[in-house]
Amino acid sequence: MFTFSDTHQMIVKTCADFADKELAPRAAEIDRNHEYPAPQIKNMGELGLMGIFVPSEFGGAGLDVVSYVLAMQEISRGCASAGVIMSVNNSLFCDPINKFGNADQKERFLVAYAQGRKIGCFALSEPGNGSDAAAASTKAQRDGDFYVLNGTKAWITNGYEAEAAIVFATTNLALGNKGISAFIVPMDHPGVSRGKKEDKLGIRASSTCNIILEDCRLSKENMLGQEGEGFKIAMAVLDGGRIGIAAQAIGIGQAALVASVRYAKERKAFGKSIGELQAIQMKIADMGMRLEAAKLLTLKAACMKDKGVRYTKEAAMAKLFASEASTFVAHQAMQIYGGNGYVTEYPVERHYRDARITEIYEGTSEIQRIVIASNILKEIV
Ligand SMILES: Cc1cc2nc3c(=O)[nH]c(=O)nc-3n(C[C@H](O)[C@H](O)[C@H](O)COP(=O)(O)OP(=O)(O)OC[C@H]3O[C@@H](n4cnc5c(N)ncnc54)[C@H](O)[C@@H]3O)c2cc1C
Repeated sequence: MFTFSDTHQMIVKTCADFADKELAPRAAEIDRNHEYPAPQIKNMGELGLMGIFVPSEFGGAGLDVVSYVLAMQEISRGCASAGVIMSVNNSLFCDPINKFGNADQKERFLVAYAQGRKIGCFALSEPGNGSDAAAASTKAQRDGDFYVLNGTKAWITNGYEAEAAIVFATTNLALGNKGISAFIVPMDHPGVSRGKKEDKLGIRASSTCNIILEDCRLSKENMLGQEGEGFKIAMAVLDGGRIGIAAQAIGIGQAALVASVRYAKERKAFGKSIGELQAIQMKIADMGMRLEAAKLLTLKAACMKDKGVRYTKEAAMAKLFASEASTFVAHQAMQIYGGNGYVTEYPVERHYRDARITEIYEGTSEIQRIVIASNILKEIV
């Protein structure tokens, strides 16, 4: 049984209030308009949510990963787009710079980002390869004290607003995944440009775009970690990121469950509220149970990350289970709403669209199953 500290309870209350007052009331409109929630993200920065587990000396809130999960659940319950913006900045940008960056990189690329004054992004996927990240075709050619980057990174969340990106590029093709390196690339650096904003099914208030690198000449001081360590960094970062996406999925599912229960109590059919019908109650039971199980798996992975033990399998389990729970819950929510579930006047069609991405990014469900199985096969001899 998890016991939450006073700090954890305070985080839940603060984020729940913020989600109810600042995020949920605008979520449908910004989804419709593809509008980045800039004022809300600024406020989230002031609340310490954009670098929750970054130490306070580097601009973060200095809290633990459990705090991050609890905050992500509430923020995503209010607005799934705000959730992914927050998750990418925390897990995929600030965390690797905190872990692998040197003092100068932390000063230049961590403090303002952890405070939420600037936003970061993570550029691993390419048009030709996502799951098979080691097949990166973006190249970084050494030239004295510089590297010259050429290639296109695809699907980059926060790409439009980010002021810096962690970009993965091949420095030595012959070494396979051991020839990939990570670079911190300022988005206003010569040779860096953005592709068009993708027109997405869900999380439409967060931007997603290509990042194009054309003879982008970067100082070797911009390398994150050592040459050839990029793939290892990317995989470690994604383990942590999956905990954030699991929490996002739970938040979306929770919003769909709450909306469904309220609707089921109000909506009448055959002389009684549909919530009194066993067919609807069975759905509500399964929805609640799956979300509860997802929360426990996600908290377990977060506790393991906090303890500093290996949590690759647990993060994959949390992400896989929570994302499938979220899409199941959003599907059932639409069913409970009937025709009203299918139109934009009610929130569940948005939850249905938002939930779907959690089964795709930061490793598809198929990839999570591969990660889980390979770990179990190693564990059991
Ligand atoms: C909205 C959005 C935001 C994103 N944000 C980012 C971001 O910020 N940064 C970033 O780097 N990337 C980002 N991505 C990319 C995302 O991580 C990839 O789309 C995802 O990893 C899948 O890669 P892919 O699209 O190339 O699919 P593919 O790898 O081509 O996979 C296609 C299908 O084949 C399956 N498959 C592939 N390999 C195997 C295998 N070995 N065994 C079984 N099945 C397999 C997959 O599961 C999938 O079903 C984002 C994507 C989207 C849509």
